[in-house]
Amino acid sequence: MSLNLLQAWQGAKKRLEAAGLAGPVIDARLLVEAAADATRADIVGDPYRALTPEQEAKLEDFLSRREHREPVSHILGRKGFWKIMLNVNSDVLTPRPDTETVVEWVLRDFPDHAAWSVLDLGVGSGAILLSILSERPAAKGLGVDVSEEALAVARDNAANLGLASRVALLRGDWTTGLGDDSFDLVVSNPPYIASDVIETLEPEVRDHEPRLALEGGADGLDHYRVLAPEILRVLKPGGRFAVEIGYDQKAAVEALFRAAGATDVQTLKDLGDRDRVVAGAKKPLET
Ligand code: GLN
Repeated sequence: MSLNLLQAWQGAKKRLEAAGLAGPVIDARLLVEAAADATRADIVGDPYRALTPEQEAKLEDFLSRREHREPVSHILGRKGFWKIMLNVNSDVLTPRPDTETVVEWVLRDFPDHAAWSVLDLGVGSGAILLSILSERPAAKGLGVDVSEEALAVARDNAANLGLASRVALLRGDWTTGLGDDSFDLVVSNPPYIASDVIETLEPEVRDHEPRLALEGGADGLDHYRVLAPEILRVLKPGGRFAVEIGYDQKAAVEALFRAAGATDVQTLKDLGDRDRVVAGAKKPLET
């Protein structure tokens, strides 16, 4: 006997609940929708539609992967961020809603139709850079990543979103090779988790997401030590930056940017009211 959409959803919820997962209801819905090629409206509007044997087999595969704590984003191969949909895999950090704080800050201050340039250091899937470019049609961007595999994901996403002509993607070690005074805006979500905290993370993150995108050395701050002076070097005078931080890193990261000569340094909170983004500027030229 084949399952219908409603039975599939209810069964999936039960299994994921039994596995002790944090969000069994939403996960079950997303996995049933993808396996059965159904929309959210189908589950409500057409609940007795039968799954084909292939769809049932696919759902079984998805559920068993989820029970082994593979993230939903990896099972589906995509994740929504800001207003765009991105392809993701285990070579990139899955975009988090917290990171939208960076995008929000940029869109508040950077003009709609002027031609300005943005550099995203550690571009990963392209979440930050491509969200910004999708909302600012005259802006141009450069994304740098040390991982060739991550750049392949970003390249794919740029093409799918019709943004390839305004994005360059380069393999590199942070700002190595980039010229002084080159960008109006620099953004980054660098790895910032302290090494001994990594083992305490949820299995979805610890076992499935790239360490390279997470680990920030003994105190989590290694990359900001490199990035603060380098971001100030590659920014144009008067240019601005915004970098994501861990919830307890405000004081340390603000101090690193002030020591590098930044002005207007401030920390923005995410939707959960945690310190999440340090932003600031490079001094304009004296006139
Ligand atoms: N916010 C991510 C997490 O907690 C970490 C992101 C990062 O290191 N840049 O999993």
